[in-house]
Amino acid sequence: MSSQAPHPALLIPGPIEFDDEVLQSMSHYSESHVGAPFVNTFGETLTMLRKLFITEDPKSQPFVISGSGTLGWDQVAANLVEPGDDVLVLHTGYFADSFADCFETYGIKPTQLKAPIGDRPQQDEVEKALKEKNYKLISITHTDTSTGVLSEIKGLAALVHRVSPDTLIVVDGVCSVGCEELRFDDWKLDCVLTASQKAIGCPAGLSIIMASGRAIERFHARKTPPGSYFGSWKNWLPIMQNYEAKKPSYFATPPPQLIHALHTSLTQILSRPLEERFKTHRDASQKVKKAVAELGLKQLASKPENQANGMTAIYLPEGMTPPAILPTLMKKGVIFAGGLHKEIAARYVRFGHMGVSVTDPERDDIERAIKALGEGLREVGYEAPNGKA
Ligand SMILES: *Cc1c(COP(=O)(O)O)cnc(C)c1O
Repeated sequence: MSSQAPHPALLIPGPIEFDDEVLQSMSHYSESHVGAPFVNTFGETLTMLRKLFITEDPKSQPFVISGSGTLGWDQVAANLVEPGDDVLVLHTGYFADSFADCFETYGIKPTQLKAPIGDRPQQDEVEKALKEKNYKLISITHTDTSTGVLSEIKGLAALVHRVSPDTLIVVDGVCSVGCEELRFDDWKLDCVLTASQKAIGCPAGLSIIMASGRAIERFHARKTPPGSYFGSWKNWLPIMQNYEAKKPSYFATPPPQLIHALHTSLTQILSRPLEERFKTHRDASQKVKKAVAELGLKQLASKPENQANGMTAIYLPEGMTPPAILPTLMKKGVIFAGGLHKEIAARYVRFGHMGVSVTDPERDDIERAIKALGEGLREVGYEAPNGKA
């Protein structure tokens, strides 16, 4: 029995449902952020992140800083590039527009390579774009949470290394780290940013980053100081290195209770092989996508290879808008999110299937949600073509 008050299952693409033990870790008594017990917990958390990102290179550098996923964009723009630099932003939805906006805030010049809604830029287009300018950095959204489109990081990273080897490879993994396969060392990535509240299943409030040795070198070789104070790696790098070496150190107060929760969720995630975790998410995703197709509904991500495994963005039946169905689903005990992509937000809903909702065998969140979607649509007047709804 869960120790949480009864509540509808939160099946939006983050924050996601929490495990009881993760939530209970937040009620840790107050500790000094420079005392040995907390420093140990923080140090272990950083070391566990290396396993989550699948990196054994001692030059890789994890960062955990108070903030949300968005702070990861600021850290990249403030530390890895300099004003006037060109960066290439691959666009698979809303989040690329925001990352590009963030780059502009720091005087960086983003060029966006866009695909039609529901698709992703193709390798030959990316190759052509990379040859047009001296891009200091390319950013790729692993799962764009506005469209449910998955990027093919491995192939894109290999392409960048071949065609433009000095370009740093940055992955926005806010909706992918912890549910999609991602191999930091094998795929030779330079910076992957994420947040605590999506597939990692920890409450919101932490910006989490893994940077490569090459990214850290690029940071050290800057000609101009970082364009941020709170987000500056000049301030945070020694702190992260000290914490991992179990040495107390201070730049700005970390959130001890959240670090405890992250420590617990990483301990749980790493207690089983990551391969198994990726497969569990793929299997749950297939189940959802099959049910969506049986209801006669379409996904935004139209090609199977483009479809994320941690969420599904579903077009509603012609003429139906999210407010017509979301309250009905809530009454049935599940919460989905409305649309987010500006041009089509009123035409679709998003179903997140990450973390304990798919990995905990004692939960039936996904089955309940699939059933609620079919029943809910029928109640608001939709008839599936094959009579299944
Ligand atoms: C949620 C999300 C973000 C922003 O993260 P916040 O924690 O809301 O700041 C960035 N990128 C992607 C892909 C996301 O899904």
